[in-house]
Amino acid sequence: MNDNNNRNRKRMAWIAAVVAVLALVPAVAGSFTVSLLNDIGIGALVALGLVLLTGVGGATSFGQAAFVGIAAYATAWLTTTQGMSPWIGLLFALLLTGLSALAIGMLTLRLGGHFLPLSTIAWGLSIAMLFGNVDALGRHTGLSNIPALRIAGWSLADPRAMYYLIWVVVGLACLFSHNLLQSRPGRAIRGLRGGATLLASVGADAYRVRLTLFVTAALFAGLAGWLYAHMNRFVSPSPFDVRASIEYLLMAVAGGLGQLAGALVGAALVLVLKNGLQDVLPMLTQRAGQLEAVAFATLFILLLHFARGGLMGLLRRWTRRRAGAPGASRYQAPTVDPLPHRQLPQRGTQVLSVKGAVKRFGGLVAVNDVSFEVNAGEIVGLIGPNGAGKSTMFNLLTCTLPMSAGQVRFLEHDIAGMPQRQVARLGLARTFQHVKLRPHMSLLDNVALGAHSRTRSGILKAGLRLDRTEEKQILQEAQRQLDRIGLGDRAHELAGSLPLGTQRILEIARALAADPVLLVLDEPAAGLRRKEKMALGDLLRKLREEGVTILIVEHDMDFVMKLVDRLVVMNFGSKLVEGVPSAVRADERVQAAYLGSVV
Ligand code: ADP
Ligand code: MG
Repeated sequence: MNDNNNRNRKRMAWIAAVVAVLALVPAVAGSFTVSLLNDIGIGALVALGLVLLTGVGGATSFGQAAFVGIAAYATAWLTTTQGMSPWIGLLFALLLTGLSALAIGMLTLRLGGHFLPLSTIAWGLSIAMLFGNVDALGRHTGLSNIPALRIAGWSLADPRAMYYLIWVVVGLACLFSHNLLQSRPGRAIRGLRGGATLLASVGADAYRVRLTLFVTAALFAGLAGWLYAHMNRFVSPSPFDVRASIEYLLMAVAGGLGQLAGALVGAALVLVLKNGLQDVLPMLTQRAGQLEAVAFATLFILLLHFARGGLMGLLRRWTRRRAGAPGASRYQAPTVDPLPHRQLPQRGTQVLSVKGAVKRFGGLVAVNDVSFEVNAGEIVGLIGPNGAGKSTMFNLLTCTLPMSAGQVRFLEHDIAGMPQRQVARLGLARTFQHVKLRPHMSLLDNVALGAHSRTRSGILKAGLRLDRTEEKQILQEAQRQLDRIGLGDRAHELAGSLPLGTQRILEIARALAADPVLLVLDEPAAGLRRKEKMALGDLLRKLREEGVTILIVEHDMDFVMKLVDRLVVMNFGSKLVEGVPSAVRADERVQAAYLGSVV
């Protein structure tokens, strides 16, 4: 804990120093520096949205300047042609930006791979073109005479006054983003890179998470656009074209996509460099504009080669080397009421029933007409040689994969064809044969992600820090599950630093954080040492005592025979036999399937 406290204290000292310097600048700096810093602040706001969207969420946008433009034009139009107050302009600008982002996001965010970045270029181009061709927006000449902002009778026409407003907004946006990342929706955003299946397994909808994140990033850009319009008092199409979008992305990348401060550092780096180049290049050539583009492209390539994490990434690697690994410790907070628990079904009642499940992959029938049942409070093992179709069966009954034919009943619901996240919300939690953890998130955060479906806070609540009671409940629950699997003292370590076997156990803690009725475990003991396996066996037996139902695939026959109440054996996609361990062990067909090796 001391390590982390120290780290926090150091960070606070840094932030205080930066704030103090920024507060003093207008008193000592010339007007050129002040306007440059104003531009940096506005750029940083847009880049901050991109750090969240691209750096944390993994969705690249080459069209962010379009959102700046929509907001700038919205407030410009409303205040100049309709004579409204800039504050109404702010609401209008944010509303229009948010709605545009919602519409564009709904059209494009389902696109996979390279299609999303490509489509962002398309709308970036078309929106800038729109500004240049609408009469009401002044076509290519734009709109001028935009009023300056006034706060309580005090005019912000002077760039030095505007400076304070811009940097207060930047500060608040940083604070909002910081709060967001350490919250329920923030963990879901950080989970996006782990894929839709990971999020669905904890009951979250990756598409919705990405869409709200996209709108949030656009609103940051919108805020920047509003400030821009009332600072420059004039708007025209060119500052909002695709070239500007690329510059914003460059800011985020140059600063470091991985962390919020990267947005500030990157905006400063790019704009200072741009200013420098605009001073120097005309002395060297008459084609300064083109050379500037070349210089930026070179910078981009150098960064991608030598400093993927941007400037902040370099700095961080350096400080971390000096400070050592993050402190391993428990989560400690004032005790809050635990999250409410689900009512578990009466022992012995049917929890899961699979009937005639079939899964075809092209010509291959991976699961062929398999039926079995699982009752409350049982541990049922699913065994069979490699390639028998066990993992596929698990994917079918958790609705991770659609079935080709058959039915699955979970509690009183027919779940075949239901979205996976909905099934997860009903109380079916799973782990994966190929571990799906977020290696750069702490153990605690990975497990806390499991409690997603039991909690409610959204982006706004989290950003404004109104989610703190629930957040404490989530973390307390995550710590409790970590304690259960014996990793309680390593809560703040990164999940990626664990050996693979231990990562599987961490997945169990994440599944338990969902307070499941049925726990579905795919080879949880693979890669564990004997003592660790024994501890796992004890944990699973204890869960059974508590009334949790468990379905498990496991290759270690010794382990599985001692643990389970019943076994279902699969071979070549079909069910071979089903029964209590001793009967299965004695069955000739099972011995033949395993060639008499391990059973
Ligand atoms: P097990 O978990 O019992 O080792 P799996 O369920 O992983 O077996 O695989 C069963 C069969 O289905 C294997 O032949 C495997 O190659 C095939 N298979 C599994 N997933 C896919 C997929 N997504 N596409 C095509 N074939 C698959
Ligand atoms: Mg498998």
